[in-house]
Amino acid sequence: MKKPGRSMPDTKPLGIFGGTFDPVHLGHLRLAEEAAELLGLPNVRWIPAGQPRHRKAPQEAAIHRLRMVQLALVGNPRFSVDASEVDSGEASYTVPTLERVRSERGLRAPLVLLLGADAYAGLPTWHRWQEIFSLAHVAIAHRPGYPVEPDALPPALVAEHRQRAGEAEESLKGLPAGKIFTFAMTPLAISATQLRQLLAAGRSPRYLLPQPVIDYIELHNLYRNPNGS
Ligand code: ATP
Repeated sequence: MKKPGRSMPDTKPLGIFGGTFDPVHLGHLRLAEEAAELLGLPNVRWIPAGQPRHRKAPQEAAIHRLRMVQLALVGNPRFSVDASEVDSGEASYTVPTLERVRSERGLRAPLVLLLGADAYAGLPTWHRWQEIFSLAHVAIAHRPGYPVEPDALPPALVAEHRQRAGEAEESLKGLPAGKIFTFAMTPLAISATQLRQLLAAGRSPRYLLPQPVIDYIELHNLYRNPNGS
């Protein structure tokens, strides 16, 4: 029975979706929505990176990228935004972020790190990447042009992939972390790179990202610099 004055640890699975979101687009939104539905995640926490260190600097400031994510998520009760990487003003690393979420949620709650197939293939370049598996499961979304077959993965990842591959449903019922599973989302060949190029060329981004995000981009004159992408 619940003791008065003490909160019970939350053992519901939590999706964690990090990215530069430079800018956020419908590929990101469908990934998170379909992951929530297919994997049975009551909540997905979006964590925009402040200064991601494993890739080149984002084109737009962290505060703009955060605002665009906030606008994109309006009206979806399953989604929330975690601004801590942006607020910290420091380099963003996934493992310390997962450690923070883990200490907040307790040891038993399944955490599910959501990654597109391209990001997954790049995992061995991330700081302390092998520690991810002791903190969270990894759910990989199919992305057009990025196969997830073990043979197509970088050698450093193959052993982990083979050893940890599992079924989402079983893993999420019994284990807080450590499994790798894939899910087939609606294939959407949209990328932030393509959007930055389109915007720099003055072309229409309509129907590739939410209208409030487009309005924000116009209002703040973002992505106008053709050298920025
Ligand atoms: P860029 O083109 O700048 O690399 P991006 O469109 O890949 O950006 P990110 O913010 O880097 O966007 O991606 C955040 C996460 O979303 C990553 O795990 C990435 O693999 C995934 N992702 C982005 N777009 C798609 C898509 N169209 N389909 C599936 N996954 C995607």
